Amino acid sequence: MSHVVVVGGGFAGVWAAAAAARVRGESDLRITLIAPGKDLVLRPRLYEPEPERATVALKRILEPVGVEHVRAAVQDIDVDGRVVIADGRPVEYDRLVLAAGSRLVRPDIPGAERLFDVDTLEGAQRLRGHLRGRDGYTAVVVGAGFAGLEIATELAGRGRVVLVEKADEIAPDLGLGPRPVIEVALDRLGIERRLGTSVAEVTEGGALLAGGSPIPADAVVWTAGLEASPLTSRIPGDRDRLGRLKVDTRLRAHPHVFAAGDVAAARADDGHWTVQSCQHAVPMGKTAGHNAAADLLGVQLIDFAPAPYVTDVDLGAAGGVYTRGWDRLVALSGAEGKWVKRWLMDKIHPPVDDAATILAHAGVVTTPIPF
Ligand SMILES: Cc1cc2nc3c(=O)[nH]c(=O)nc-3n(C[C@H](O)[C@H](O)[C@H](O)COP(=O)(O)OP(=O)(O)OC[C@H]3O[C@@H](n4cnc5c(N)ncnc54)[C@H](O)[C@@H]3O)c2cc1C
Repeated sequence: MSHVVVVGGGFAGVWAAAAAARVRGESDLRITLIAPGKDLVLRPRLYEPEPERATVALKRILEPVGVEHVRAAVQDIDVDGRVVIADGRPVEYDRLVLAAGSRLVRPDIPGAERLFDVDTLEGAQRLRGHLRGRDGYTAVVVGAGFAGLEIATELAGRGRVVLVEKADEIAPDLGLGPRPVIEVALDRLGIERRLGTSVAEVTEGGALLAGGSPIPADAVVWTAGLEASPLTSRIPGDRDRLGRLKVDTRLRAHPHVFAAGDVAAARADDGHWTVQSCQHAVPMGKTAGHNAAADLLGVQLIDFAPAPYVTDVDLGAAGGVYTRGWDRLVALSGAEGKWVKRWLMDKIHPPVDDAATILAHAGVVTTPIPF
């Protein structure tokens, strides 16, 4: 009996397992997903006030489609022996889908252990617990990218927020298109900016900026920088500056290994590289899972073909900003931008319990956004 092993229970891993199950049909292909947690964590929703709502039980997706879940963390991958080591035990595979995601790059500064984050469910819950009941707090948010803007604008409702960004402008990766809308939103919410600097130390009473100026604060939230899972280093081949494996159009990283989601860099639409986002992790997972099973069963493999790139940043009480294309031209802002964001956040919830619905979704790789 052939065995597909998926490492990771995020968007990419879950959809890889479901897509492999769809290709399996009546064959005896065995599919195992290895991930330590019991839930799929919807990381894009962790900035919301109740982060514990941003989870879906993995068994409600995997059990109906006949995927075994091994609750363990993978420490090593031997591509020659086709075996992964999960909590010290070997698990052999015929095809592997690596979908172990990404993690926040934590800075090496004094007091780093005091930093809060919204990268993991535990991190987001810790931040909320810490600020609960402290209306009028001051929060320092480090990094004015997607995650930093969303948590900063969310927290601005009940306290003072200072946004620290090492670039000389906010949203450096979002480009010129949405920046004016974001600037207006930050002004409206009273969010202070410290640009061209970073936090050099986290103290009991707040943050010290490079150069020494202190910002007294109740919480310092670090959002700057994601890196791919270190498991990518176990697969021979090229990696990019984020540690992502460069994969081909079928998301193959090595003869028996496919990679999807935040661990992989693939060509998306218009020749751009994929970005670490669920809008790419979902179709990458579906493509990699299909191809891993298809490779074993003699079924036609498919090329990765994501929908055209869009972005949407939640700007708290100031609405949202929705952009289209790689130049990120603003399509909707304010209440309309926020409405689309809510729509997108609802859409990332996978269907549960019903095998036919889950397998049908697994077969739709390219889902254009209708806005
Ligand atoms: C605050 C925040 C806001 C975001 N906002 C957006 C947004 O608005 N839009 C958007 O498209 N994207 C957004 N993203 C990015 C998006 O969340 C990620 O790109 C997406 O989660 C990637 O999915 P993934 O399955 O590749 O990895 P992950 O979601 O990181 O999942 C990885 C999985 O692998 C498991 N795992 C890790 N290591 C191991 C191991 N050694 N062994 C076994 N299992 C392992 C983990 O437990 C997890 O189950 C945001 C991310 C953050 C942090």
